[in-house]
Parts: sequence; C-alpha cells; structure tokens
Amino acid sequence: MIGTTGRASVSGEPNARLKASRYLLFFVAASLLHAQAAPPDTILVNGHVITVDARFSIAQAIAIKDGRFTAVGTDADIRTLAGPNTTTIDLHGQTVIPGLADGHLHDAGGGPGVDLSRARSIPDVLTAIKARVQQSAAGEVIVTNSDWHEAQLEEQRLPYRHDLDSVSPNNPVVVVRGGHEYVLNSAALAKWNIKKDTPQPAGGRITRDEHGELNGELIDRAKALVTLPAAPKLTIEALQAQHRKLNEAGLTSIRYPGASVEQYRLLQEMARRGVLTIRVNQLMRFNADSAASMRRAIAASGVKPDEGDEWLRVGGMKLGVDGGFEGGWMREPYAEPWGERGTFRGVNTMKQAPFTDVVKELNREGWRVATHAVGDAAIDEVLAAYESASAEQSIRGKRWTIEHGFIVEPDQFPRMKALDLVISAQNHLYLAGPSLVKYWGAPRASRVTPMRDYIDRGFVVAGGTDSPVVPYPPFWVIYHFVSRGTISGGVMGADQKVSRKEALQVETINNAYLTFEETLKGSIEPGKLADLVVVPEDILTVPDKDVERMRPSQTMVGGKVVYRRAS
Ligand SMILES: [Zn+2]
Ligand SMILES: [Zn+2]
Repeated sequence: MIGTTGRASVSGEPNARLKASRYLLFFVAASLLHAQAAPPDTILVNGHVITVDARFSIAQAIAIKDGRFTAVGTDADIRTLAGPNTTTIDLHGQTVIPGLADGHLHDAGGGPGVDLSRARSIPDVLTAIKARVQQSAAGEVIVTNSDWHEAQLEEQRLPYRHDLDSVSPNNPVVVVRGGHEYVLNSAALAKWNIKKDTPQPAGGRITRDEHGELNGELIDRAKALVTLPAAPKLTIEALQAQHRKLNEAGLTSIRYPGASVEQYRLLQEMARRGVLTIRVNQLMRFNADSAASMRRAIAASGVKPDEGDEWLRVGGMKLGVDGGFEGGWMREPYAEPWGERGTFRGVNTMKQAPFTDVVKELNREGWRVATHAVGDAAIDEVLAAYESASAEQSIRGKRWTIEHGFIVEPDQFPRMKALDLVISAQNHLYLAGPSLVKYWGAPRASRVTPMRDYIDRGFVVAGGTDSPVVPYPPFWVIYHFVSRGTISGGVMGADQKVSRKEALQVETINNAYLTFEETLKGSIEPGKLADLVVVPEDILTVPDKDVERMRPSQTMVGGKVVYRRAS
C-alpha cells in the first residue's frame, strides 16, 4: 500500500513485515555501535534532506560509512560523529533526495544511426537523412536511431515513404522510431520485397495511406520483414558511458526491461571489476513462444531467477502481448481508422494460448513475469494468463508486473489486486500526447497512464521512462506525474495528477519494492545503501515547471560521488 505519507509496505503478510522491521532495527542498532567505534567516511551537512522514509521525515545532515547511511539527523548530531579522516560536504542549503530509479529503461539512447533527437520538423528529419545519404555508398542501407518521436516535430506526424524518397531515391532508408515502428522509403520496400499484396503478418501491421497505397510504415512483428545491418557489439565501455549519462541525470538504479544474456554477462563482468556506477536489475528476454522453447532457452542461458546482489540482480522474465503507440491492443476501435473503417483495435503480438503456456511454465520454474501490456484488451490477456498460472501455484507476494498499463478498465483493478500485481508505469504521455489523441481519441488518450487510479486503489506503482522511447531524465517523469503537463499537448488528464511526495515515492522506494529491495535502498535511512541525489531547489515546493528543469548538482551511489556538476 502507498499513500501521501506512507510508502510501499513490505508485504501484506504480517510475518514478512515483522521480519523486515527486525532487519531494519538490527541495522540501526548495529550502525549506532559501529558509528561509535569508527567515524563516518563522509558527512553531508547544512542540507534539506527529504528522506522518503515512512513518515516522510526531513533532516539536515547524513553520515555515510562503508557505502551505507549510518545516521540521519540534525547538523549538530551528525557533526559530532565526524573523525579526523571524515570528509565533510557542506550542502549550503541544497536539497537531498534518495537516488532516483528508472524501472523500465532499455538504454540511454543515441547510437550509430542518423540522430533525430534534435529534429523539430519533417524538413529537419529529411536534412539529417540526406546528409547521411551523401556520405554513403550506392545501395548502402541508411538507418536512424530510435530515440525520437514525431510529437517533437512541428507537423506532429511521422515522415512517410514519399517524404523519404525525396532525399533518398536510391539508398534504402529505415526510420526507426521507438521500439515498435519502422518507416521505409520505396527503395527499402523494394529491397525487402514488401508490396501491396504482401499478407499482413500475425502480430504486426503493414500500414497503408488513405488511397490504399503502402506508406512505408511497419508496426510490431511486421518489422521482421526487414533485416537491419548488425548493430555494433555492445561493450563495457559503451555501457559505462551510458551509465555516466544516467548518473548525471540523477539515476542510481535502473531496471532493464528485457535484455540479452550477452548484455547480462557484460554487466556481471562490470560488477566483478567494480566499475558499475548504477545498480542494475535485468529482466531477461528470450525468443520463446511455447513452454518447451522457454524451458530450453532458460536452460541454455544458465541464468537463475533472482540471482545476483545489490549491484546486479536478475529481476524476472519479460514478455509482451501488444504494440505501443500505434499498436496498443484495445477493447474499443482506434479513432484513426487506418483505412479499416474503424475496425482497427491494435496489434496482439502474442496470442492467449501460447502466452498462457509460457507464463505457467515460468511460474513453475520460479521466474517472476513482467509483461508489456498497453491497451485494455492486452491487460485482459495478461490477467487471464496470470490467473491460470496463479491457480496452479499462487503468484501473490511475488510482485509480478504489468509494464505500462496505459488503458485499464474498472473491472480489471480487482483482478489485478487479487494477483497482488505491481505496476511499472512511465511518462509516455509527456512525449506522445498529441499522437495518442490521433490514434485513440482525446478521452482515451488523456487517461494514459492512470497514476491516480492505481495509487488510490492501493497499487505500488514504480516509475520510469522506457528510454530511449521517452528520454531518460527522471525529473521529467516527476514533472509529468505531478502536473500531467506534456511537451506539445498541454495538460492532459489533470484528474490523474499525483502529489510531489507520491511522485518521489514512485521514483525511489516503490522502484526498490518492485525489485524486492525496499529494506536495502529507496529512502535515506540508517542501514540503507548510500544512494542519493543533491538538487539546488526544494523539489517539494518549487513551481511544477522548475521540477521539469531540475538538474542534479551531485549524485552518489554507495557513498561514492558518481556525478558532480562543474561549478
Ligand atoms: Zn514495452
Ligand atoms: Zn519498453
């Protein structure tokens, strides 16, 4: 449960709650003894410390020893703990909050493709692509990075096939937008032999314009018709560079929502070398659509559910049942008819029977499941599968999740509650508001993502961005959740606003709860990991727009400074 002054409770079971509070008491007692025996490594004084503990206490100062908070209190209390080798950081009245988390982050964006993140109009997009075409050999495939969205463009639409043809008549062009969408020019459609009579692939969509001609758009599993040039191999150096960008934004913990075993092995090597600057929880993603193939994939990976420690842990298995902005699977038809006279309800990327089969198998093997579900029809499918798994062996208390949960119906809340689900929610509306109005109509678009409804019904909601689909700055998430302000669509769905305190919980302790680490991190309390962010302004009282502009002056992970803004 979570409320304005409460935080995620440890569990519905009194036994677990008792155990957790004993654990915390032990730490407080042990750390007091320890503090007397050995002075802290670091103290931070003269601050406004928003602890996000159960009472939302405010303090002035913090002591840190061996990577954990050992004391939180007044300046006088904390200064007396200092020894000759203690480093003292004077905060000059700045605000300290617990380290921020992103519960659903694929990567930090960027990449070797054409960068569209700074494009503000269709001509900007075409200019960037044209520049790449001019540097490319005849026939070379041009691919864009995925970290942009048409809502950032003046025209508020995607560039389509004929736009792309105007700057690249010969080189195939694949515009990648987020995780569910490609747009191809004519040369690319020809290269991969995609024609008007190509059958619609199951779980995907080849889109047409109002005249019935291909507009170049491929949604979800239709993307499999195209084979992109291999991405450069992921390296430890590349991951380190990404993590540094995330630290700079105030992130101290992330959850990768479905990544490869190869990436996990790199992260393990980083943990072994001690070069991780962010705590990582990784959901695994395997290409398996039956119980048998999932069993084989798990065995081949050698990865065990929940293995790891506070730096790197396996968090479960990622599955998905529908599309994204253009393909979320809905009970009611889209507002945009896609030439189908109002019958399009989105894309169901994994059918009920195989999905249920895989979910039940994962439950038997002790894996927690996290499923991408955007539309209400997708949530219906997820609930049916989770319920049938839970009938075999209860999933209550296991913190299975719905990832995204954009459109949820009143009849679904009690079923979600009965399964004790946790919600992993992001700020997609902040970026994509106007597109969602176009696809789903204004009333439905402004319900995305119903934070107020979830919290009022007692769900623990963990926040994030889905970066690179939405840019990763966590203060944009907080800004959007408290104001419902969007980049280019004004305020949408004001009835779903949450308070500053709730938004902070969503970005800190609730994310810790999501990964079973709420006794370890997510608030500034003695015994917990010393992950924190220093910001110049008081995040509880500045105007909403200042939250959106907020930038950390310092980020600490495990008591070590991982980012400090140059003054
Ligand atoms: Zn997703
Ligand atoms: Zn995602």
